[in-house]
Amino acid sequence: MDVFEKTIDNKNIYKGKIITLDLETVLLPNKKTADREIVRHPGAVAIIPVDESGNIYFVKQFRKAINSELLEIPAGKLERGEEPSECALRELQEEIGYTADKLTFITEIYTSPGFADEKIYIFKAEDLIKSELAKDDDEFINIYRHKPDEVFEMIKKREITDAKTIVALMTAFKL
Ligand SMILES: [Mg+2]
Repeated sequence: MDVFEKTIDNKNIYKGKIITLDLETVLLPNKKTADREIVRHPGAVAIIPVDESGNIYFVKQFRKAINSELLEIPAGKLERGEEPSECALRELQEEIGYTADKLTFITEIYTSPGFADEKIYIFKAEDLIKSELAKDDDEFINIYRHKPDEVFEMIKKREITDAKTIVALMTAFKL
């Protein structure tokens, strides 16, 4: 059976710079209604930058939502009308100071479809060339490099817990 939930009422609760929060009332297949709290997000990209020795670049930054620093692959949200591949090269330059001659699309993922529409496009970047763009002025980032087998151990030891990072590495390196 194909299931669909038709929206019969939509209240915008919050409109922020990055996300909006909607409260949608939907009609269920049994004709009852339910409320869905939904975060709308413009989408984002995440990039696995690999240098000529096979090291993978990571960024560590403080994430207020979880009150902790997190080790992640470089990532950032799409600007209006921006192609994911363009966004990937921009974020690479902003976050680690490189662009790439070779950019390969790996996959796309919905990060939290239970309450958000955010989709992340994942790329692998190789043949890196130094090219810096100014960082966002609210981003404080430290850069690290690790070998793929080291990274697998870090995932097992829960030193890497960021979902997009784990999915990206598992998919790209078939760990
Ligand atoms: Mg970022």
